[in-house]
Amino acid sequence: MENLRRLTPFLSVAPQISEADVGTLASRGYHAIVNNRPDNEGEGQPSSAAIEAAAKRLGLSYRHIPVISGKVTEADVEAFRAAMRELRGPVFAYCRTGTRSTTLWALSEAARLDPAVLIGVAADAGYDLNPLRPRLDAQWAGGVTIVARATADAAPARAAKAYDVVVIGGGAAGCSVTASLLKRRPGLKIAIVEPREMHYYQPGWTLVGGGVFDRRKTTRPMAECIPAGAAWIKAAVASFDPPGNAVLLEDGTPIGYSTLIVAPGLELRWDLVEGLSETLGRNGVTSNYMLDLAPYTWELARGLKGGTALFTQPPMPIKCAGAPQKAMYLSANHWEAQGVLKGIDVEFNNAGGVLFGVKEYVPSLMRYVERYGARLVFNSNLKSIDGPNKRAVFETRKEDGSVERVSKRFDMIHVVPPQTAPAFIRQSPLADGAGWVDVDPETLRHKSYGNIFALGDAGSMPNAKTAAAVRKQAPIVAENIIAILDGRNPRAVYDGYGSCPLTVERGKVVMAEFGYGGKLLPTFPWDSTRPRWSAWFAKVSVLPWLYFDVMMKGREWLAKPTVLPHQPLAHEAAAACADPAQRK
Ligand code: FAD
Repeated sequence: MENLRRLTPFLSVAPQISEADVGTLASRGYHAIVNNRPDNEGEGQPSSAAIEAAAKRLGLSYRHIPVISGKVTEADVEAFRAAMRELRGPVFAYCRTGTRSTTLWALSEAARLDPAVLIGVAADAGYDLNPLRPRLDAQWAGGVTIVARATADAAPARAAKAYDVVVIGGGAAGCSVTASLLKRRPGLKIAIVEPREMHYYQPGWTLVGGGVFDRRKTTRPMAECIPAGAAWIKAAVASFDPPGNAVLLEDGTPIGYSTLIVAPGLELRWDLVEGLSETLGRNGVTSNYMLDLAPYTWELARGLKGGTALFTQPPMPIKCAGAPQKAMYLSANHWEAQGVLKGIDVEFNNAGGVLFGVKEYVPSLMRYVERYGARLVFNSNLKSIDGPNKRAVFETRKEDGSVERVSKRFDMIHVVPPQTAPAFIRQSPLADGAGWVDVDPETLRHKSYGNIFALGDAGSMPNAKTAAAVRKQAPIVAENIIAILDGRNPRAVYDGYGSCPLTVERGKVVMAEFGYGGKLLPTFPWDSTRPRWSAWFAKVSVLPWLYFDVMMKGREWLAKPTVLPHQPLAHEAAAACADPAQRK
């Protein structure tokens, strides 16, 4: 709880807490918890019910005053004010970053405290409330009640700050495309909006779960990853105002842009499997999709000497479609080496109907499935988990189209959660029917808004959602953004390249590399469908370097964009015709 900030002797705030943190709060003398976050807002977020139960167990009062990002209403402020009146202090309040809780506190005090004092106190705690100044001033001046200054459904906001390029997300895609842009045009005014303090190298998490990497190898402070020359706005985007060329932050602050790049990744939907959130990290339930749990995968694998090990794969699309089976191969390989594999029932429950989407790789993978004696169960989708009783329920679609529920006992289960676009994208005008950012699969430009692009996991293009895909997409988006800023048509095109290093055993990888339509696109002139030691060496030693020191630095090694010949825009063609020198 090192992020806990004291605003007053009565009230402290912090970013999202875990159930375990409730114990820390109780031991520090807090008497009440206020949760300002709606449920299911972000991946891995404990539910309000879970935090409330933990608070009740320790005798703390609990209030849930959920506030929608960017829409702090007067009703929210009044509810917060009432809670502060009624609760016994000291009180602890939280949301995703602590900004909404701090905003509520400032607005609830605005009629009686000087705005400069409120802003100063918040600044000392690390929260910038300057954008709230007009609203605080209005309340201070006469207790005037006003509604949220900038909301998604209010009139388009006038952006306080404007950038040539605003990038949403400082993950693999956001940092790489920013670096590629600054390489092309160092003077560009560009900002990354990213709430996290840490950047994650997620492709390394399979290796953490397989006991090959220490988890520290997969994290870096965000400050070291945001490219020099870009501004870092440490906040989360809540909504979009495409006609006003602005995005709205969680506290309602508008940020203006000439061009926008949307790269917030995807959302892990632990909530879509009943009982899963409650038992994650306990009772033999693990997942390499959450860094905190990847070491638990390895702990479970090392501890298992017999019994049943289940591995699950949800419906597509997911990030790194091979990761569910990689967890199985590395665990089974360990059991084989320990001589205990024969006593362990290994079962892979796949919501889809094939082991891997590109058929050329399936024979190699099947050889490992057979070697490890793993049972493949297709069309079997995890629906609920009962951790304490170690049972998982799958919905299985049979050949005649009927669906049945099958309950299976496990000693360990590796779960890959269903995945969707983040809620603020799904509910935005940028989304396609399935919720992803609706872009052209070649230029990565939004189909309705010409100055908006997307790359990485949040985009609608049908490539394999991988960091490897991002490596090829970033130069393409950079090239096309520069074209738009210069008033030209985007001409760089993406072929759908993605890659999935399938870690089939310690020391061997099948390096799947393919593009749109499953076309094989191997980087090196080798048969990429076979397991190789050299591919393992690449996965363990070369790819982390390629990620942090090449791709994220805008070095486009083996990733130069394909640029189509120039097609003049209508106004360029007209200008050329008007110019006598151009006439034949
Ligand atoms: P991310 O890297 O997830 O970054 C998204 C960023 O956006 C985050 O920093 C987040 O905080 C930020 N954000 C979210 N919401 C907001 C908001 N509202 N406002 C502002 N910022 C926001 N890929 C491979 O190439 N090879 C592999 O072997 C591989 N293995 C994998 C194994 C696992 C277990 C996992 C989980 C992933 C794996 N991947 C692999 C996939 C790869 O990590 C992702 O495809 C890649 O990180 C996508 O990049 P991104 O920038 O789109 O999303």
